[in-house]
Amino acid sequence: MAAPSLTTDLSQSTKPLKNVEDLCERIKLYDPQADLNLVRKAYLFSEKAHEGQFRRSGEAYIFHPLSVAGILAELRLDVESIITGLLHDTVEDTPATLDDIKKEFGETVAMLVDGVTKISQMKFRNSVEKQGENIRKMIVAMGKDVRVVLVKLADRLHNMRTLHHMPYEKQSRIALETLEIYAPLAGRMGINTLKIELEDLCFRYYRPDMYYILVQKVKKTESETNRYIDEVKRLIYEAMKKTEIKYEVYGRSKHLWSIYRKMTARDIDFEQVFDVLAFRLLVGSVTECYEVLGYIHSIWKPIPGRFKDFIAMPKANNYQSLHTTVVGPGGERIEIQIRTREMHMIAERGIAAHWKYKEKGVADKTEAQAQWLRELVNWHQNVRNPEEFLDTVKSDLFESEIYVFTPNGDVREFPEGATPVDFAFSIHSDLGVKCVGARINGKMVPLKYRMQNGDTVEIMTNKTQVPSKDWLKFVVTSKAKSKIRQYVKEEQRKRSLILGKDLVEKEFRKFGANASKHFQGDLFDQFLSDFGLGSIDEMYIKIGYGKLEPKHLVERLLPKGTEIQNPKKETESFMDRMVRAATNKVKKSKSLVSVDGMDDVLVHFAKCCSPIPGDSIVGFISRGRGVTIHRSDCKKGFELDQLRKVEVDWTRKQAEQGQERNVKLKVLAQDVTGLLKLMSEAFSVHGINIESAQVRTTKDKKAICHFEISVRDATQLSVAILELQKIRGILGVERVMS
Ligand code: MN
Repeated sequence: MAAPSLTTDLSQSTKPLKNVEDLCERIKLYDPQADLNLVRKAYLFSEKAHEGQFRRSGEAYIFHPLSVAGILAELRLDVESIITGLLHDTVEDTPATLDDIKKEFGETVAMLVDGVTKISQMKFRNSVEKQGENIRKMIVAMGKDVRVVLVKLADRLHNMRTLHHMPYEKQSRIALETLEIYAPLAGRMGINTLKIELEDLCFRYYRPDMYYILVQKVKKTESETNRYIDEVKRLIYEAMKKTEIKYEVYGRSKHLWSIYRKMTARDIDFEQVFDVLAFRLLVGSVTECYEVLGYIHSIWKPIPGRFKDFIAMPKANNYQSLHTTVVGPGGERIEIQIRTREMHMIAERGIAAHWKYKEKGVADKTEAQAQWLRELVNWHQNVRNPEEFLDTVKSDLFESEIYVFTPNGDVREFPEGATPVDFAFSIHSDLGVKCVGARINGKMVPLKYRMQNGDTVEIMTNKTQVPSKDWLKFVVTSKAKSKIRQYVKEEQRKRSLILGKDLVEKEFRKFGANASKHFQGDLFDQFLSDFGLGSIDEMYIKIGYGKLEPKHLVERLLPKGTEIQNPKKETESFMDRMVRAATNKVKKSKSLVSVDGMDDVLVHFAKCCSPIPGDSIVGFISRGRGVTIHRSDCKKGFELDQLRKVEVDWTRKQAEQGQERNVKLKVLAQDVTGLLKLMSEAFSVHGINIESAQVRTTKDKKAICHFEISVRDATQLSVAILELQKIRGILGVERVMS
């Protein structure tokens, strides 16, 4: 049984071609200037090459390439595509070579034939998950020229039309492959006619049981359907006759595969599929589309939520049309599509409709390639309605990927949400490391910009740039992530190493000794092993991080009783005091802050900004005192040597610690009596102790209060600040740094 003709526009109009003259006639219809002699020459070349070969149907092999060329002519493709259709199997199946083709038909045709041959040799994996990958493979294979895919699709369509000659087990395998790869690709390229015919043909071999049931059902209701279609057409005519609008209207059943999918998706019977009938109205202009929509809605009630404006919001594959579902005659739901004739042409022929190779010399090869890839990404980009998108192209090959261009026009693929940093690392680690910003389509964007499909990305670099740990918060590719982590780690190691070495040398100099002289021999080896150090560098790093003090080194390596040279008493004792103070503090605050992921590093809280748990903080390696913690907005921190900066973070144990820290608050208030009492109550309600308070009044009757309070963390502090702000007469509360 043949596929019902009412479902396929392409096959409906196709008369089988008997010879090359039939083909030439078809080409002449749309391209009177076409070089038909070249077409005839290609036909003879192919006929000769395939001489003695037969298809399973028993006909001479040449009918296959002739039919493929015929399909390409229906898509109104250029002579080169049609010749490729005629020659597409010669290299693979006959003694003819690519060189022969190049000699007779030129470079382009040879390249196209080669591309089609390569696709034919590709092994596709039959699994829906692999579908995107398969299609991508194909896009890569034919990357040079979209016509390769068009020829391959025409080849597959003809093979599907003649699939009944194949053995049964091959039928279902080929049908499934077509359903999973070629039909979606045709849809992706917007060639609806091909997609629909391929789907119905696949359906027939993939699920013959259901297919024939549906064919029967559609057939049974055919005359009834036709009467109904005529009635709808008549009513539209009645409504439209007052207008000047010239239109054509077509009515038909939706194709079987789409009916079947509706049935399975909603788990319903054929009879329950409402909108089986679809009507199409073609008009001259966009304005007329909306006008006609108005008429349609004046005759029949539209079903809410079913109106879709693909004119304002074209589909992923550039499809444009208005869709509405209305309650038609007899209460039947009917879908009506309204579009211009031009939109219709694009809907039917997709990318083939754009193919302007006839205008010779217009597109050079690279431009054509870039254009084709741009179109692919544009289809994706044009989707503004994600729901509709999912609905129509469920198996979208670009679902979670974006394609962007390098300044040279190369295409790169990224996961959605990828940033210029991901882009830079994908090109080269050095580029990623030095990346300071990017120009997207000529405009400057920040590093965390999320790249969009079709963006042209140019990376800006700076020699002094170093990757920051913050980058890890926005990059998405694993390559960028691991490179940044590696770099940050390595940088901190290097910094600690330099600092550690510095500290050690200074410590030894204090005793009039040269450090490097002592870094050999048994004593030193013993020291290393006692502290579990694998190398001198490791020792320096530990010292740089403040995990090990240089004085231990001196104690162990210098002879007992070595005196400090030129002691500067005051400085020394001050330093000693500081170190002791820091060490004492450290004992208490250990594990409150982690440095670079380690929570056993000596830390010391800067007095200037008094960080409390919950504040955003940074650490600076300070000589002999481990790491000093500043708030990240502390001005003092900016003045410090940025080389000493390390990543620090509050540890999770902060809450359990229950340790309180002092912070300073400045409160501006009206000079009203009793206010101080209210303020101190606000603190005590939240269990906050006031360590000190100072009040100063100004000439204009304002009071400036300075409090030093002890709090557990930033949360407790902000609660207190909120409480203060509620007090009538309080004009402002501010946390002060030094
Ligand atoms: Mn073929």
